[in-house]
Amino acid sequence: MHARDDARPVGQPFIIPIFLPHMGCPHQCIFCNQRAITGQSAQTPSADQIQQAVRRFLNYGKKRPSTTQISFFGGNFLGLEKETIRSLLGAAMPFVQAKEVDSIRFSTRPDTINPESLSLLEGFPVSTVELGVQSMNDHVLDTAGRGHRASDTIVAAGLLKNRGYQMGLQMMVGLPGDDDDGAMETARRIVELAPDFVRIYPTLVLEGSQLARQFREDRYHPMALAACVTLVKRLLLYFNTHHIPVVRMGLQASDGLTRAGGFVAGPYHPAFGHLVHSEIVLGAISSELDRMEKRPDPLTIFVHPSMVSRVQGLRKQNIDRLKHSFALKKIVLLQDAHLAKGHLVVAGEKIILP
Ligand code: SF4
Repeated sequence: MHARDDARPVGQPFIIPIFLPHMGCPHQCIFCNQRAITGQSAQTPSADQIQQAVRRFLNYGKKRPSTTQISFFGGNFLGLEKETIRSLLGAAMPFVQAKEVDSIRFSTRPDTINPESLSLLEGFPVSTVELGVQSMNDHVLDTAGRGHRASDTIVAAGLLKNRGYQMGLQMMVGLPGDDDDGAMETARRIVELAPDFVRIYPTLVLEGSQLARQFREDRYHPMALAACVTLVKRLLLYFNTHHIPVVRMGLQASDGLTRAGGFVAGPYHPAFGHLVHSEIVLGAISSELDRMEKRPDPLTIFVHPSMVSRVQGLRKQNIDRLKHSFALKKIVLLQDAHLAKGHLVVAGEKIILP
């Protein structure tokens, strides 16, 4: 998976990203940009380049949270040559030894995790490994050209857990041959693997990928944004009930997307996660209003100041939808800093967001 992970949701470590675009990838997944994979531009960064990049980040943010990690991402880390792996880790290690950085993390394919590849990490301060699971359905994996099976993920997760690594699992929605039930089944099987965190990525059609050709030949139809938001909301709520943090939903508006060759089609939105959270809020308020025999109009909602935009929804869509669905003339949003962030008071009734 080539998504950037340099964003830092609340409570997440400060990530210093080292982008290794498609490096170490033996397979060309159909949603990936093949021109970028086969192009000449991707070169392993030298130790000097890595150290300069890390130094830039360290100098930039003087005040950092307790945990800072150097992250190798964007390719298939353990698919690289052994010497390359050692040299990348070796370039990052002095920052951990100097206590400027806490640890190293990387993303890799499930089929690269085995006792031999993990032995390469011994002696290096790697704490976190992310696996591009994408789906736990072998047919979907085959169709996506992943070249690994769901069983590879199960084995990899077991090895990582046994060795005490923090483990993140990335899944995709909207892959060819997948559907909402398939995505929920993937989530169920991911929960069984007890990851420390999850990322959920909608499938996008990128220029130069096989999927772009299928899209233009009318053989692949990406998810509509609204349907994708609703599905990812279901997944988020499912992971929430199992106390598994979802640290990212959707690609961010970053150069990762443009570098990958350009967006063609699919459920992309720069504030995808916000759309998901807004829909959760809409659902919670709607359920509360459904329960009320008599709804006051104007309807008053008290909300923590940091939650106002989620309650309003993008371009105040939640307010419009609530007014329309419940025949309300006016909704008044009032900020209350004493309220917990996950609490709302709707017409005098306190509700706790899921
Ligand atoms: S999706 Fe990930 S594993 Fe597949 S080719 Fe792209 S970077 Fe490599």
